[in-house]
Amino acid sequence: MSKLSVKIHCLAGHIRRTLIVVSLAAAVPALGLIAYLGLEQRKLIVDEFKRDSLDVVEAVFTLQRQFSDKTKNLLETLDRLLADIPPDDIAGNERILREVLAANPAYVTFAVVDSNGLLVAGAKPVSKNISVANRRYWVLGKQSMRFSAGEYAISHTTEEPVFHFALPRRDKAGEFSGMLVAAVKLNFLEQYLDKFQMPQGGALLLVDNKGIRLLRHPRSPSRPEGEPVASNILELLDKGGASGFFKAPGYDGTPRFYTFMRLWLEGEPRPYGAVVLAVPVKSIETMSTDLLARNMLLLAVAALLALGLARYLGTRALLRPAGTLVQAAKRLGAGNLHPIAEGDVPGGELGVLARSFNEMADSLLLREKQRFIAESALADGEKKFRALFEHTQELIGLLSPEGLLLKANPAALSAAGVDMNSVAGKPFWETPWWNDDPKKQLQLKQAIEKVQSGGVVTFETNHRGAEGQLLHVEFSLQGVLSEVGEPLLLIAEGRDITERYVMESRLRHMALHDPLTGLANRTLLRDRIQQAISWAKRNPKECYSVLFIDIDRFKVINDSLGHASGDVILQQVAARFQAMLREGDTLARYGGDDFVVLVRAIPSARESIRLARRLTKALAQPVEVDGTRVQVSVSIGIELNPPSDPSPDELIRNANLAMHHAKQFRRRRPKAFTARLLENIKSLQFIEQELPEALKNGQFYLVFQPIVDAGRGGALAGFEVLSRWHHPQRGAIAPMEFIRLAEDTGFIITLGEWVLDCACQTLAAWVDDSECASDIFLSVNVSPRQIADPGFTPMVRQILGKHSLNPEKLHLEITETAIMEASSQNIDRLNELASLGVHLSIDDFGTGYSNLALMTKLPVSNLKIDLSIVMAMDDQPGNLAVVKAVVTMARALGLDVVAEGVETGRQRDMLLELGCGLQQGYLHAHPLAVNQAQALLRNG
Ligand code: C2E
Ligand code: CA
Ligand code: CA
Repeated sequence: MSKLSVKIHCLAGHIRRTLIVVSLAAAVPALGLIAYLGLEQRKLIVDEFKRDSLDVVEAVFTLQRQFSDKTKNLLETLDRLLADIPPDDIAGNERILREVLAANPAYVTFAVVDSNGLLVAGAKPVSKNISVANRRYWVLGKQSMRFSAGEYAISHTTEEPVFHFALPRRDKAGEFSGMLVAAVKLNFLEQYLDKFQMPQGGALLLVDNKGIRLLRHPRSPSRPEGEPVASNILELLDKGGASGFFKAPGYDGTPRFYTFMRLWLEGEPRPYGAVVLAVPVKSIETMSTDLLARNMLLLAVAALLALGLARYLGTRALLRPAGTLVQAAKRLGAGNLHPIAEGDVPGGELGVLARSFNEMADSLLLREKQRFIAESALADGEKKFRALFEHTQELIGLLSPEGLLLKANPAALSAAGVDMNSVAGKPFWETPWWNDDPKKQLQLKQAIEKVQSGGVVTFETNHRGAEGQLLHVEFSLQGVLSEVGEPLLLIAEGRDITERYVMESRLRHMALHDPLTGLANRTLLRDRIQQAISWAKRNPKECYSVLFIDIDRFKVINDSLGHASGDVILQQVAARFQAMLREGDTLARYGGDDFVVLVRAIPSARESIRLARRLTKALAQPVEVDGTRVQVSVSIGIELNPPSDPSPDELIRNANLAMHHAKQFRRRRPKAFTARLLENIKSLQFIEQELPEALKNGQFYLVFQPIVDAGRGGALAGFEVLSRWHHPQRGAIAPMEFIRLAEDTGFIITLGEWVLDCACQTLAAWVDDSECASDIFLSVNVSPRQIADPGFTPMVRQILGKHSLNPEKLHLEITETAIMEASSQNIDRLNELASLGVHLSIDDFGTGYSNLALMTKLPVSNLKIDLSIVMAMDDQPGNLAVVKAVVTMARALGLDVVAEGVETGRQRDMLLELGCGLQQGYLHAHPLAVNQAQALLRNG
């Protein structure tokens, strides 16, 4: 027992002594290590600072890049918008520039520069003859024909300090035609920079290629924008390559660390500026010195504790076996201990102990190292990710695999005006970004399901912004899988593409709409009709139709009131029509004064006839232009029953043909297209060629419709001469039709000469035959093409001479429209005719522009009130007033008035009462064959 206790005692004493020696041996190198690490730490802090500051500079660089990319896109869009506007339409160019500026407040102005470098148009007013040819962007941009950047400048237009970007343009032939320039406010990045935390005394600078400060964050009154940075710094920047880090005395001689990155545009030979972060060396060193002192203190305390512990444990170990000692040593080893050098390891049991201590220290050191590396790598990655997540303008959300929202970044939260607490943990589709539209929700749910097994789904959608505005978003959802393929996380990303979307839809709108009326244009109309056709093919019950509308006598309105007024009338007509239509219908401007309506989903084809009537009625009230009231009427043709597989153009053509048909009848009644109509038109086109032969073969003849004086018991006053064509196969062809064909082909000149000759010959024969005949006149219709023919007056003189007729007995009827459309040349011709002694008479008065004032300037002697007005006198009291006014005014002007189309006794009496005795119409007589007319004369 005592032997053993002596042994243990001996051993214990030995161990205790050895232990203290070991502890000291361990503590001394540890202290050395601490001092060494302290110094290393200082270097580390500087390294870390370098890394951090490069991150910051890189982030600003990226923001600047994003901004220049955005500017490039904007200028390209602008170039497209301006492409359709002639360069000399300065007002047109400036209107677009202003609109784009209004949508992009980060810019000071946009301007157009011509190929000589002169400013020609701007979103803000530009003065003439200012040249930008010495600006950097001009010189570089012209050289490379690429998007280019400028430098610090005072704007020519707004006199503010700005920075320029410019886009070279080419004309249609591909030649350089000038540039589009965007001037940017210098503080455009400031709002983003607030997010960066600056070390004590640090500053973030944006400088141009000459070292002129464009921006300093934070702002400092002593270091304003527009002044150069210290020259030594500029030199170092120029030498430093694309990015770098250097230490140099700054403007005030204080040494600073500078981290920088040069700004480049693709294709530019030189950088256009740099992002620079300047931080006083002192503020970094203070940081590391503080840290060193603190660490030394901490480690010294730890070493002292270790020594104390060694002593204490040594004492306690007296009563314990060596195993306890080893364990205590292991615990001791939990500190940052250096192993004992192999040569210092004693022999015997303590040697074993020391070796196992060494092994332990080694493994501890290794573990510590690994932990340190892993932690710092993790921290680094996370920091970068967090910076991106917090500062990016993209909307980012992290979702659980089931689609519950785990986290959304500030950009996403502020876009919807919500805070994280209110949406955290909710199914993503029930959050405010999605819950306004079940269709959107469904699309999202499908996307979630899809990416749960990996992959990306991308689509465009929209969200309500914080102020209720509509944001268009390019949305993508990506599934992140674990190594074994299980879904870990979904990443939702949204990019605000509102600007692009709005620009695009504007462009689309411009391409598909008429600029004057804002109505659909031909392209859109065809597209809509095609949709209706396809829909009807799949749904046989679907009923749709196409209406073609033409404004009557629009050319006259336009010529007499001026084109500006014509435009106003078109706009008002468009607005009135639009008010008559439903949402699914399309009203298009088809051409000058042509409109086309597509109506869909109507209960029956008849409904479109009703619509046509409503459209006609919509113009019952005159349209007002600059205080003048203009009565507008239209002719409408309808394609009522589209064939089974038509083309849009075919339907429009059919409706157009029907419209022409409606116009001929001048009854303001819509006409429907029928197969017969097409047939007729086709055959008319065919018989057009037969006209000359028909005249030679005697198929034409004249009829004579009496014009009577109802005031003198219906005494005969004269005849209107009307042409007839009897076709051997087709029978009678209506004058309405063949006269138009003859006018179209120019044959009317020949036909008209024959009519006049034949009429005069007939009258001459009648005069020889009966006495009464010398009191009557013949009224012959003359077409505007005849008037325009220079040979017309000589021809009339020649025919009158040939038949020895008194010119007073010949009346020439010219339609009111033809006279209104008359050029000054035609007016001269009318004067020549009048000087022959023949009477000129205005035909169809009341269907045209009814300009009595003009009549006074013309050598006319009577008016023929159109039969449509006479016929409508019964049911429309307004027409009675019109007739009354016409008769009164005509009298005042010394003109005779003839009423056409008198069919009833009531009409005759009413006209008489109004003082219109001269009448023509079926009530008095139908047109008579030549011998019937002669018989009438003989009987007095
Ligand atoms: P217009 O000059 O207005 O001729 C009057 C038309 O009204 C004639 O039709 C006549 O038959 C018709 N009419 C007469 N009284 C009545 C009535 O009480 N009720 C109705 N409903 N109609 C009545 P028509 O003969 O078919 O001639 C049509 C048009 O063709 C003429 O209209 C005229 O513009 C043109 N036309 C006819 N012959 C000639 C011609 O030889 N030369 C030229 N240039 N044009 C002609
Ligand atoms: Ca006539
Ligand atoms: Ca007439």
